[in-house]
Amino acid sequence: MTDPSPAPTPHEPFDAVEVIRAKRDRHTLTGEQIDWVVDAYTRGVVAHEQMSALAMAILLNGMDRSEIARWTAAMIASGERMDFSGLRAPDGGVKPTADKHSTGGVGDKITLPLAPLVAVYGVAVPQLSGRGLGHTGGTLDKLESIPGWRADLTNQAMMDQLQDVGAVICAAGAGLAPADKKLYALRDVTGTVEAIPLIASSIMSKKIAEGTGTLVLDVKCGSGAFMKDEAQARELARTMVDLGRDAGVTTTALLTDMSTPLGLTAGNAIEVEESVEVLAGGGPADVVELTVALARAMLAGAGVTGVDPAEALADGRAMDVWRRMIAAQGGDPDAALPRARQSHVLTAPEPGVLTRLDAMAVGLAAWRLGAGRARREDPVQAGAGVRMHAKPGDTVQAGQPLLTLLTDTPEQFDRALAALEGGFDIAPAGSGEAASFSPRPLLIDRID
Ligand code: URA
Repeated sequence: MTDPSPAPTPHEPFDAVEVIRAKRDRHTLTGEQIDWVVDAYTRGVVAHEQMSALAMAILLNGMDRSEIARWTAAMIASGERMDFSGLRAPDGGVKPTADKHSTGGVGDKITLPLAPLVAVYGVAVPQLSGRGLGHTGGTLDKLESIPGWRADLTNQAMMDQLQDVGAVICAAGAGLAPADKKLYALRDVTGTVEAIPLIASSIMSKKIAEGTGTLVLDVKCGSGAFMKDEAQARELARTMVDLGRDAGVTTTALLTDMSTPLGLTAGNAIEVEESVEVLAGGGPADVVELTVALARAMLAGAGVTGVDPAEALADGRAMDVWRRMIAAQGGDPDAALPRARQSHVLTAPEPGVLTRLDAMAVGLAAWRLGAGRARREDPVQAGAGVRMHAKPGDTVQAGQPLLTLLTDTPEQFDRALAALEGGFDIAPAGSGEAASFSPRPLLIDRID
């Protein structure tokens, strides 16, 4: 936080300390107070330390539905709004748009096959994505492992690509909800990220400002997710669905499991490789299941019914869109992906059934190997990560490879192995636990 402390401002309609006290004392903030505090913070009139105190009061005392809606509207109003109504369908009508947002998880590469898959059916997918911070990877970091691929597009280039190719995955421009950018950076360093009203308004302000007609939220719960427990994930999903609906966006949430990583890879290039397998009609069953479920929800929201998106994965249509989407952003879809220089194999210590492979442990290991970053400005290693050789429910033999750790910086192996200590359980072969184990369902619920 480098902004200087604000000078006294006699002409402001409210005093930041009054607003902080109101929330501290569990009062409902008025619409005018909310509009002012969000705007004044963006202008630098409310100081970082004042907004930190207010964010903490919100975390502790919550906000009601009308406060959250007003806070979201104020963050949208801090920047520009995109407009896709100029996109044309083949019949001359307006092309529908649909977007997906995931609350983040380990091995979550779903956006990569999903965006081209939905575009196959004539629905434009403007997927504004982010870079990773902490143990969950970022979609842009993954795609940047493709030689030549660029994340930064002008709004016009994005529109042209949506019209011609149908799908774009790119970085959100600085003009979209700038209040959120500033506030999110502050929350990150003040222990105030985990406030449901602030998470919901942060995510939804960007998605509503982006201008998509349909939004499908993948709200994850489990050890590798923001929301560790289902009740909190449900509350977040409900809050975001209500915000979207009230803003005229057709919004649905799928509540999905993030107690174990998605697929068999967590990293950057290795996740692109796995996504391409899915686009080629193969890939791990859980990645395919979630991709198809989210595609169905996006297509239904956009008014496309009576189609089975699994078919476009099997017959190569989604792969065709992927190749055009990557090439349109300067990437070479045929280029070899970077590989890590060093690997270390972790083997199963005993035979049995793998009953737990913890998402947080694998995410932390991948992060420490160099797939993620600790600070926003850090680079990531394209080839680093964790390759999994078994999933919960699989039978393993003693000594068989369980995980392969990949990095260019082998001095990190010890720290990655430490993250994985206690990160998996194997029930002895023949035990009751091994016989009765069944993996947790991936799709937990749907919230409309
Ligand atoms: N992602 C966001 O964009 N905002 C949050 O507050 C949390 C996750």
